[in-house]
Amino acid sequence: MSFFSRKIAIDLGTTYTLVHLPGKGIVINEPSVVAISKIDKKVLAVGNEAKEMLGRTPDTIVALRPLKDGVIADYKTTEAMLRYFINKALGGTRFFRPEVMIAVPAGITSTERRAVIEATLQASAKAAYIIKEPIAAAIGANIPIGSASGHMIIDIGGGTSEIAVISLGGIVANTSARIGGNKFDYAIQEYTKKKYGLAIGERTAEDIKIAIGSALPIDEPMTMNVRGRDMLTGLPRTIIVDSNDIVAAIQDELAGIIQAVKSVLQETPPELSADVIDKGMVFSGGGALLRNIDKLITQETGVQSYIADEPLLCVAKGTGIALENLESYKRSLLFSS
Ligand code: ADP
Ligand code: MG
Repeated sequence: MSFFSRKIAIDLGTTYTLVHLPGKGIVINEPSVVAISKIDKKVLAVGNEAKEMLGRTPDTIVALRPLKDGVIADYKTTEAMLRYFINKALGGTRFFRPEVMIAVPAGITSTERRAVIEATLQASAKAAYIIKEPIAAAIGANIPIGSASGHMIIDIGGGTSEIAVISLGGIVANTSARIGGNKFDYAIQEYTKKKYGLAIGERTAEDIKIAIGSALPIDEPMTMNVRGRDMLTGLPRTIIVDSNDIVAAIQDELAGIIQAVKSVLQETPPELSADVIDKGMVFSGGGALLRNIDKLITQETGVQSYIADEPLLCVAKGTGIALENLESYKRSLLFSS
């Protein structure tokens, strides 16, 4: 007999959705993409399969991201995506309706929050709980959020960077900047155009960022051969870019994140900011994997930084932990039904 879970934790990220089953760990990690037929508005595919369709069947199919810049772009698409992931995680026929907890960006409005709850209940959940991403990220990063002490978490995702100071299980100061990995990729595309007259795709830009990207100049930079289309001749061409090209390409975006971190520090009550200075700030999300991002932020703020273990999984793991320990985390939840 297969494993039946009655509880499901979902990290509804702007670029990836992760599903965590208590006792089982992360069972799904797929792009937050839904492919829809333009003609009859039917959902054709979700997740990996939908992302594969991107760009390959251009005219009759649109691929939508239910979350854009950290907000729900479209209710029906969100519902379709949640239904798909819940069914896939539970597998086969089942005779019960699960309890579902979803992590959402801290900045979503109450209307959007209700839309997520509705979509979750429509997608067959018996009960739906909402937790704010920074709280989930902090729990997943093993930060003792319930203590009467200030903890700062910086989650750099694809669409947004969520920066928050948490104390006694609640958010004391926070901001959600619409800067993240996607903007880094875009900036890299713009940079190769300007500096080398070479147009490159979004995927290529992301590959470069992951392979050789850095937030601070490096003495012995890594290099990479990059293929693209020459903007003058229209023909394929290969160039060599190095880590310091990437530093230059993304510096404005990094400055935006630094600004956001500073603004949260400035609005943090003094007692709690003293705690943050003592304990440092913790990074999660895919952007935490960018080389030297921790050093850069420490250099700019004077506060020590630490990268969480498995930063890409923090929100999903934290949501799972909160769901398994509903009583102790009740205070930190936004809404339940
Ligand atoms: P979200 O929660 O918005 O779905 P994630 O936390 O999953 O986002 O992070 C996704 C982002 O992290 C993407 O922009 C991806 O390119 C970026 N990313 C993943 N791995 C790395 C890495 N090693 N270096 C830099 N960026 C990375
Ligand atoms: Mg995330």
